[in-house]
Amino acid sequence: MSEFHRKLSLEYETLHVAKENAFWTAKMGLDADADAAGAEFDDKEKTLGTWLQSPSRLAEAREALSAAATDVERVALEGWVRTLEAHSIESAEARALAAEIIDMEGALARKRESMELGYVDPTSGEFVRASSVKLGTILASGETSELRQAAWQGLRSIEDHVLANGYIELVKARNRLGRMLGGEDFYDWKVRRVEGMSKDAIFALLDGLMAKTEEAHQNTLASMEESERQPWNFRNAITGDMTREMDPYFPFAKAVERWGRSFAALGIKYAGATLVLDLLDRDGKYPNGFCHMPEPAWRDQGELKPARIHFTATAIPGMLGSGQRASTVLFHEGGHAAHFANIDMPAPCFSQEFAPTSASFAEVQSMFLDSMLDDADWQARYARTDGGEAIEFPVIERGLRARQRGEASTLRAMTAVCASERAIYEIPDDELTAERVLAEIRRVENDLLGMDAGRPALSVPHLLSGEASAYYHSYVLALMGVAQTREFFLGRDGHLVDNPAIGPDLRRAYWQPGNSKRFPDFIEALTGETLSSDALARSASMTDEDVLARAKASIERLDTIAPFTGEIDLDCTISIVHGNETVATTDGSSFEEMCARFAAWVGER
Ligand SMILES: [Zn+2]
Repeated sequence: MSEFHRKLSLEYETLHVAKENAFWTAKMGLDADADAAGAEFDDKEKTLGTWLQSPSRLAEAREALSAAATDVERVALEGWVRTLEAHSIESAEARALAAEIIDMEGALARKRESMELGYVDPTSGEFVRASSVKLGTILASGETSELRQAAWQGLRSIEDHVLANGYIELVKARNRLGRMLGGEDFYDWKVRRVEGMSKDAIFALLDGLMAKTEEAHQNTLASMEESERQPWNFRNAITGDMTREMDPYFPFAKAVERWGRSFAALGIKYAGATLVLDLLDRDGKYPNGFCHMPEPAWRDQGELKPARIHFTATAIPGMLGSGQRASTVLFHEGGHAAHFANIDMPAPCFSQEFAPTSASFAEVQSMFLDSMLDDADWQARYARTDGGEAIEFPVIERGLRARQRGEASTLRAMTAVCASERAIYEIPDDELTAERVLAEIRRVENDLLGMDAGRPALSVPHLLSGEASAYYHSYVLALMGVAQTREFFLGRDGHLVDNPAIGPDLRRAYWQPGNSKRFPDFIEALTGETLSSDALARSASMTDEDVLARAKASIERLDTIAPFTGEIDLDCTISIVHGNETVATTDGSSFEEMCARFAAWVGER
């Protein structure tokens, strides 16, 4: 029996690798027959899903755990029990209901996709079809208030549509399932299962954040014109667009080298991993950036199996903002990759990105690292034109002001989505009607924002989908973790940029244990503090003067921080690919040579 955990690990690894390879092939459009690639992925995903959901496998793992003879075996089996518990539903009645809910979600998704969505053009009076993404873009940057209002009404129409097409029945069924499995309601059950935290614990954090950012939000509102305090004008009025001004300082072809140099200076290593980067947009390729881990890192019989990690962006070189966007993707996805590559545990269940891995905690790694790109000291050191000309302080200053102005309000708008979703699941069954749901959403929005939200809660796709429902709080919790992590390093070491202690400290406290701890335990392991909204509220409530004073001080400090001038060695093999073509690789050449080859290839296109 002592090899049972290893048998689980090897079986899982085979199914996981097959599924993730098929995922990459399908999403990158590597197979000429896209339908066949899609079907292949669905098939492999189902096979893995069935394996994870098996109640008998969970029972066997529990039994093996109770008889574990060594520490390695016990740790591995604890991981397996937690992983299988996060996927299987042991009661047959609940399993049947869960299957019914998946069908309801599918039906609702099809109704939502086939919806005639768009806006009424205020000049022509004609209906223009537009996706929710398009409507969101018009809301943020549409030319006139009338046009933005039309887009906002388009987003509102999603709410009525889903309420009339199965969302209410879905909420009832989800609540029935959640209560059947021991939660207060669906939301509570889901977060206990996925995050290991109760709904009350999560909302205690969010409510704390709301109390502490109220004043900053009121100040923002007070600084605005009456007409700007409309749901369809608010976002447009508070967010300044710095893309054009920043663009010259983020040349696309330099993005990979800046990422490598920055991460090397932070002491980040990838533990022998293989990284595959597909960075450019292409026909038939998935339109969003992501990172996935086809081969999870784990220690098998004492020997570390390094990870294979892929990440992708959809950059269009030459397009305004593409270099800055590429830097953000490299820091963000490169942060996810560093997290998963450095996991060192005795089974692959600890180093895969799905439950019981905390989505909020995973996002802390990527968002902490990409947050540095907005720091004055990082920009002063790294943001340079193609000709090597450094960014000037007035540009940095305008960027900081533009970001700080809407910070508290943005957090409150995100929280309004989570709090609306919680309120929906708390409506008693016999009172669940479309009118009541809308009344609850509007009450929450007005409580937190002082107006209806620019992004109506039910237009957010997360609330409808199976996987992403009762999930939106993850983004806010992750921001809390990022702010605490930043405060910790800034307080201890005085700076983030080129701080060589960051990589080793993150590896020890955040990365090596994989998903063996809960999100709050990780924050405590690094910072010594409990997870809280304090640091995030502090940074969101800073005045412009505070922000600028800190920025200046951080730039002055750069004199005392040695730049990283050594060879870039991230302890990994990197291949930059474009579909099936390998553009540049560190296999047989240095990181710098790979960057030069990539830059030349981009130049030729
Ligand atoms: Zn991410």
